[in-house]
Amino acid sequence: MRILILGGGFGGLAAAKEIRRLLDEEHEVIVIDKKYKFSVGFANLWLMTGLRSDIRYLDLRMLNEKGIKFVRGEILSVDPKNRIVKTKDIDINADYIVIALGAYMNSSIEGFDKALNLYDSEDAIKIYHRLERLREGKIVILIDSIPFKCPPAPYEAALILDEYLKKKNIRDKIEISLITPEEKPVAGAGDNASRSILNMLNEHNIIYKPRSRALRIEDNKILFDSYEENYNLLIGIPAHKAPPIIKGENDWIVVDKSTLKTRYDNVYAIGDITNIKLSNGYSLPKAGTFAEHEGIVVANNIAASIKDNSDGMRYDGYGYCYIDVGNGTAALAEGYFYNNPIEVNIRAPTKKYRMDMEEFEEIRLRI
Ligand SMILES: Cc1cc2nc3c(=O)[nH]c(=O)nc-3n(C[C@H](O)[C@H](O)[C@H](O)COP(=O)(O)OP(=O)(O)OC[C@H]3O[C@@H](n4cnc5c(N)ncnc54)[C@H](O)[C@@H]3O)c2cc1C
Repeated sequence: MRILILGGGFGGLAAAKEIRRLLDEEHEVIVIDKKYKFSVGFANLWLMTGLRSDIRYLDLRMLNEKGIKFVRGEILSVDPKNRIVKTKDIDINADYIVIALGAYMNSSIEGFDKALNLYDSEDAIKIYHRLERLREGKIVILIDSIPFKCPPAPYEAALILDEYLKKKNIRDKIEISLITPEEKPVAGAGDNASRSILNMLNEHNIIYKPRSRALRIEDNKILFDSYEENYNLLIGIPAHKAPPIIKGENDWIVVDKSTLKTRYDNVYAIGDITNIKLSNGYSLPKAGTFAEHEGIVVANNIAASIKDNSDGMRYDGYGYCYIDVGNGTAALAEGYFYNNPIEVNIRAPTKKYRMDMEEFEEIRLRI
């Protein structure tokens, strides 16, 4: 059998490793990705303030050493009915396909390219260089639209910037604002989670403007429906969409929330590319740990179906996220998002959680 995994990010890697562990070598496991570097998104928060200067990554070509074939190439189309994937150079057919292509970032707001993208490692380094020169003025973190991956990340960025500016003794000369179309922070995780983030923003004098979507961005100002906002440094989170080669309902791929099956035989989709509705009306957060758990469920079900045609494991909506709040500490939010009501626990910031973040990254950059 051939199992083809589209995308070597959080979900694709978890699925590939688990399938390889569960199935004999006679079954082929292939990962296709346009990039050969996998890195952990939250490290951008550290690049952004110079806590780290290098972009750390896992070289996906090393998968070959573990019996997982890595094919580097841009996927141009997926035919889920016939299970054929086309790249520029090859067409690959498969017995099983796991679509883990993540989210694609592209803003439709005019001038959004004037913002440095917090979700891009190279831009995170550019933010640092700009910060180094900034002595006074205004930093704006601007969220284009919902959904976006790792819902706490822009809030973490604001808190870490606050710490950075305080250390340089220029916090009183620089305003930090976070402007977003969201109603409140991390709304999908429930009221407690939102409240604790709002409290932190207040404590750190971070100006918060929810329910605001920019109309246009000019060199030093952002235009909204009823007001304008000046900026000296603009950090943006562009709109997230399903990769253009995928056509689903409302763009994202619709799956069974427990098995991650699509409506095509032996085709699964996991991670950011899916849209899973929750009991509170929000969608399952787009985050790496959810993608990984889904990948493991899918891997087990593919292996079970190959071995004895049973279909046993179910995803229960579990996921967690560290929230780096600066000063060498991080909080931890974890919960079962399929429960009704959703149960998300926010554990108070500690140095231990911040150290756990580094370990989390280190494990994922190993093969
Ligand atoms: C600043 C920041 C902080 C974050 N913090 C956390 C956190 O603390 N915890 C957490 O769990 N998550 C966090 N995340 C979110 C996490 O990175 C994503 O949710 C996660 O990467 C989603 O996994 P995925 O497998 O669905 O997609 P991805 O990891 O994005 O992988 C998709 C892969 O598909 C490839 N691909 C896409 N299109 C094509 C194509 N046409 N052809 C070939 N290859 C293609 C891409 O190159 C990519 O490698 C953070 C993200 C950012 C940016």
